[in-house]
Amino acid sequence: MILMVNLAEVRALPKIDLHRHLDGDVRPDTILELAEKERVKLPARDAIGLEKYFAELRSRSVQQLFTEGFGKVTSLMQSPENLSRVAYEEVRNLRQDNVIYGEIRFAPYYHTGESAYYGHLKDGTKAGMSYEEVITAVAGGLEKGRKDFGVRTGIIACVNRELEAEQGVKIVQAAVRCIDRGVVGIDLACDEATYPPERHSDAFRFTFDSAIGRTVHAGEFGNQPYKNMKTALQILLADRIGQAIPLQKHDDLITLIRDNKVGVEMCPESNLVTGFIKSRSELGIYKLLREKVLVSVNSDDPAIFGYTLSDSFSRLMEECSFGLREMRRLQLNAAGTAFLKEDGKRSLAERIDAAYHS
Ligand SMILES: [Zn+2]
Repeated sequence: MILMVNLAEVRALPKIDLHRHLDGDVRPDTILELAEKERVKLPARDAIGLEKYFAELRSRSVQQLFTEGFGKVTSLMQSPENLSRVAYEEVRNLRQDNVIYGEIRFAPYYHTGESAYYGHLKDGTKAGMSYEEVITAVAGGLEKGRKDFGVRTGIIACVNRELEAEQGVKIVQAAVRCIDRGVVGIDLACDEATYPPERHSDAFRFTFDSAIGRTVHAGEFGNQPYKNMKTALQILLADRIGQAIPLQKHDDLITLIRDNKVGVEMCPESNLVTGFIKSRSELGIYKLLREKVLVSVNSDDPAIFGYTLSDSFSRLMEECSFGLREMRRLQLNAAGTAFLKEDGKRSLAERIDAAYHS
């Protein structure tokens, strides 16, 4: 029997989000306030206008959404104060959707003086931040958020794939140095079609003997999703794969992922917005659950793409006829593959279980 639940019930259940980009979850009000403070011109003057602007970019092309839309937001996240504020509000966003644990990712490079997004703020004479300063600013905001909203988070530092390999190594070295500031993992993000995962194998190798978890965006877009997923697993030794859209078609990869207890962070609503899938059922989540793959459902870029994690679950449940049993399993998979020590994973699983048994 399927126990169906509505959106309000999904919202009330405790949730875990393992794949959430900081720059993809800045609310329109904050974007407007930061733009005013920094005297940066935006294409709209109020929150409704800004939402419309993002909706229009989404409907036009993914490329434009990423370069123009995300570019505008990232340009505002170029000082420690602004980064901390966005990170603090990210924890508020998690709390409002009843997310009890979130792993928040961002590419430190885009917030340094070397990035093309740097230099738009009114005080453009300030030196850009170093990788460690970027991570420290985000960590400060998340910690303040934890105190005020009671939600625990972990930081995932992304290597943006277009960088040269040496630069990727430097980012990962900074991430490892910042473990005490809450870094729990590294990720490989951005243009998968042009830059295959092996480009950054040195950076990933640097973490093989560390406490840092490894996740890789693979199988999201481009001509080589199978090869990229396999490389992420076998060369980058990914603990988790992000997106993995065509995974269900490849039984050998399913076996590899299941046998190595690799987590699969799927983001169905994001895949629909970007147009990489036409329907949620294409992801074959039910098959992956049946095959005992540790698949989870995550948000990716909720505010900019226009949904919440609860929306994502609720729509998935409706389209794929999932009930509470499947949702509980997806959440326990997230708890089990979180970049936490065993006691942290266990405590998340207990909180999830308690909610489903009450
Ligand atoms: Zn992502």
